[in-house]
Amino acid sequence: MENTLIIQQGRCTCGQSSFSVDGTPLIRFICHCRICQDLYQKPFANVVIFPENAVKLQTTESVEFKKFRAPPAVNRGICKSCAKPVFGVMWVAPFTRFAFVPAMNLADSSQLPEPVGHVFYHRHVEEMYDGMPKINGYVASQLFLSQKICMSMVLQKFSS
Ligand SMILES: [Zn+2]
Ligand SMILES: [Zn+2]
Repeated sequence: MENTLIIQQGRCTCGQSSFSVDGTPLIRFICHCRICQDLYQKPFANVVIFPENAVKLQTTESVEFKKFRAPPAVNRGICKSCAKPVFGVMWVAPFTRFAFVPAMNLADSSQLPEPVGHVFYHRHVEEMYDGMPKINGYVASQLFLSQKICMSMVLQKFSS
């Protein structure tokens, strides 16, 4: 149940944009929202949430941050050379920000926690049969993620 500290490098699909990760992931989830589908050009995105200060850009000049309209409320860093996501910053509450890192951008995914479920599933284009929870609707998806992140933060507090 306990997530482990991850210290490693991350990069975009083409490798032009890189970032460092030094922190404990809070949750991992599968996002079926339209913005993810468009950006990743895949039916869904596999995303890991870290505390915002755990993830730092190493190549600021190659990344452009774009704010996309909700859902979900994420300021996304896009690589200027491959146009794919590097990582994003997600607002869960007005003063609580998290880094939103595509699992595929991390060098080693073996340390990552198991996904908690599928969110924004009302937008799904590919049926999932893995038995994980499927959350339909914008509000329900945001609530589900907020609850899972809060639970993970509480668990980390008490285990450290
Ligand atoms: Zn790139
Ligand atoms: Zn999404």
